[in-house]
Amino acid sequence: MSKPKNPRGTAYEELDFPAFEFPVVGKARYNYTAGWALGRFLAGLKEGKILGTVCKKCGRVFVPPRMYCSYCFREVDDWVEASPEGTIVTVVASYVEATRARAVEPKIVGVIKLDVPGYKFDDHFFPGLLHYICGATDEDVKSMRLFGARVRARFKPEQQRTGSITDIECFEVVRT
Ligand SMILES: [Zn+2]
Repeated sequence: MSKPKNPRGTAYEELDFPAFEFPVVGKARYNYTAGWALGRFLAGLKEGKILGTVCKKCGRVFVPPRMYCSYCFREVDDWVEASPEGTIVTVVASYVEATRARAVEPKIVGVIKLDVPGYKFDDHFFPGLLHYICGATDEDVKSMRLFGARVRARFKPEQQRTGSITDIECFEVVRT
């Protein structure tokens, strides 16, 4: 097997990647059934709560919630409310917009593992919430300052919430 040529990747400044946008033609309307667990999770966001489920057999907590424990192959036992505060597990500076155009200002996006009262960090399996990190720069990512940083959910004002993951505007860094 040959060694990777550039295992550390290429610096963004040196990379001339093709950037192109997809024009949006018309509007596609469709319904998506969130399901019982995700439906309750989204309803919780509207109330300013971040909900998860717990499997009491293995002790794993799922935030966002799942109906079944994928480790024990059984239905989960209970609901738990996660703290709005947690730790950044991994984070990137994205230089590409959702439209695939080159971003003028990089967006900082991270995976956040929230605290769950009564459960320690290693106690629970946690796929993590992927969300924007506000008040941070690409330098904070490059310097690794954001890895392990403590963040807190910033919810939209109650009357603007719609039961969507965007009811959380972003996660603000509370300390690094
Ligand atoms: Zn389990």
